[in-house]
Amino acid sequence: MPKLTSAQLHTQVGRLQRSLKRERAKRQELERALKESGEQQTATSEILRVISSSPTDLTPVFGTIVANATRLCEAQLGNLFSYDGDAFHAVAHHNASPPFVDILRGPLHPGPETGLHQWLSVPRPFQIADMRVQIEASKLLTYRAAVRSEIAGVRISREASMAKVFATEACNAIAARAVQIFGGYGYSKEYAVERYYRDARVTTIYEGTSEIQRMVVSKNLLAGR
Ligand SMILES: Cc1cc2nc3c(=O)[nH]c(=O)nc-3n(C[C@H](O)[C@H](O)[C@H](O)COP(=O)(O)OP(=O)(O)OC[C@H]3O[C@@H](n4cnc5c(N)ncnc54)[C@H](O)[C@@H]3O)c2cc1C
Repeated sequence: MPKLTSAQLHTQVGRLQRSLKRERAKRQELERALKESGEQQTATSEILRVISSSPTDLTPVFGTIVANATRLCEAQLGNLFSYDGDAFHAVAHHNASPPFVDILRGPLHPGPETGLHQWLSVPRPFQIADMRVQIEASKLLTYRAAVRSEIAGVRISREASMAKVFATEACNAIAARAVQIFGGYGYSKEYAVERYYRDARVTTIYEGTSEIQRMVVSKNLLAGR
């Protein structure tokens, strides 16, 4: 092994220190994600336990939901509301003082300048439905190409390219919407959604860009295949 000069040794040590720092940060992030996932599972099983022990009365279920949500968000207090399409009604509180609970006693009609009103104006359920439809369509295109690939002698370049371009563009659109739904948190590293957004971006570039996949599809179609 060639002898290293002190300058080379210094550079190597610096590189190793930076690499160690990166690995430590990654480990911390994984530990945090693992802890959060464990806490979410505990919360879910607690809520399910309360649902099964109280099938007719929703009060204890709402109480457990708001208590767990407050803990998971590391918040000081939490309030849970139902929405009947017109107004909000408080259904459970955690750590909220009695005067505050009195103020929240509904029905509450959020004014146009409030965060709740803005939240209501975003059609979330439809966004989520659209995202799911795109995922299912991507899966079906991919399965179709995979099934055809099992048949000896059958060309699948058209089906494979269709699946690749559709699934990767859907993945980008879905990740972008997910970031938007999360608002400011979508941009922060506190939630994995910003990483999904970054990870999604490369999929329309590597393994054949979207433009090249479209060329493959067009060539096949124009050749009557
Ligand atoms: C994270 C990552 C991992 C990778 N891993 C691998 C790997 O393991 N193995 C490997 O071989 N490669 C790998 N690549 C390379 C990857 O496959 C190429 O980046 C990809 O093929 C695009 O080539 P390019 O970057 O040279 O872009 P270019 O070919 O310069 O294209 C630039 C843009 O022009 C468009 N374009 C190019 N030609 C046309 C055309 N005729 N008509 C219309 N539009 C066109 C492209 O779609 C693209 O949008 C990786 C890339 C990344 C980013």
